[in-house]
Amino acid sequence: MKKYAILLLIWAFLFTGCQAGENQNSSVSETSSLIHSADTPEKTELHSADIFAMDTYMNLKVWSSDNGECIKQASERIQELENLFSVTNPESDISRVNSSNGMPVSVSDDTVTVLQKAFQIGNDSKGALDISIYPVLRAWGFTTDSMQVPDNNTLTQLLENVDYSRIQLDGNQVTLPENMMIDLGALAKGYTSNEVIRIFRESGATSAIISLGGNVQALGRKQDGSFWKVGVVNPFSPAENMCVLEIENKAVITSGNYERYFTDDEGNIYWHIIDKNDGYPADNGLVSVTIIGEDGLHCDALSTALFVEGTENAVAHWRQSNDFEMILVTDDNRIIISDGIQDSFTNQSTMPVEVVTHE
Ligand code: ADP
Ligand code: MG
Repeated sequence: MKKYAILLLIWAFLFTGCQAGENQNSSVSETSSLIHSADTPEKTELHSADIFAMDTYMNLKVWSSDNGECIKQASERIQELENLFSVTNPESDISRVNSSNGMPVSVSDDTVTVLQKAFQIGNDSKGALDISIYPVLRAWGFTTDSMQVPDNNTLTQLLENVDYSRIQLDGNQVTLPENMMIDLGALAKGYTSNEVIRIFRESGATSAIISLGGNVQALGRKQDGSFWKVGVVNPFSPAENMCVLEIENKAVITSGNYERYFTDDEGNIYWHIIDKNDGYPADNGLVSVTIIGEDGLHCDALSTALFVEGTENAVAHWRQSNDFEMILVTDDNRIIISDGIQDSFTNQSTMPVEVVTHE
């Protein structure tokens, strides 16, 4: 396996999906600047915030006339969601479920929404997305800073208890069988970006762009009426853009192997997206998957699911759907895009691009 790195570039802004270890503290810094807009009679200001939450760096930019109130609300909402979804905070919904010893636990509506999406995409991907993979992820040390290759016996034993279909959801009551644990890492940021954009929209803002650790979501178009230009960096050459997408009101969410990985003594690279077929990092022909669609939660779930499904199944999955577009990068240097983004996609790499259609 090779070492790949993927970064998302937003036109004019560089956001990187960095990790900063196990630091659970959140921090926020806000700035504002006046925009002179000929089109809007109200004073519209650019408000931005840099936040460290959910173990990643987030950047919010919104053009609003509410003195930045919506960005404060969004920051609070991010904190609230982190407190619900965190696997390390013992008070979180997820921790309470994980320590329930098979007893039902009452969780928030937010957690129910994310769980329902996890089950839906789990089914649609034939189990490629399985939120009960968490104990395997822990055995690899991806949840701490002591990463290691687990022995095969450990993996075999842990995989016996990986099966999200055994989780019961009845209203707000979750019943997780004993010896199982879950984590919403594959979907949490997508749900959070949906919520931030909803807060901005409800505040009256019509133009915003946010990046939650490389997951991008846009409200409307740019302030000047043009499309947002979102770049996806070449995973084989991270200093370069692979392509640029022109979007409005869309999420652009990438799953790759750069956020968390480690190298063993022989130089093999292991990353944080696990295939439950063998308990090893998913290595089914894809090095990055970018999902484009209106719903950040849906896109985030799919980005992880299609990464695990691998090239052929990812294309088949897209063909059976009508609510997302995708950019796949294969480990033999090909770009595969779905035809719905053909007109908004500009290749900036030397990799050949194949366009897949619904046929
Ligand atoms: P990132 O959050 O790094 O941008 P993803 O959205 O693909 O990327 O989520 C990766 C996270 O999903 C992992 O850190 C882990 O918490 C979780 N995960 C890993 N493999 C799976 C899987 N097969 N099914 C569900 N969740 C997974
Ligand atoms: Mg995901």
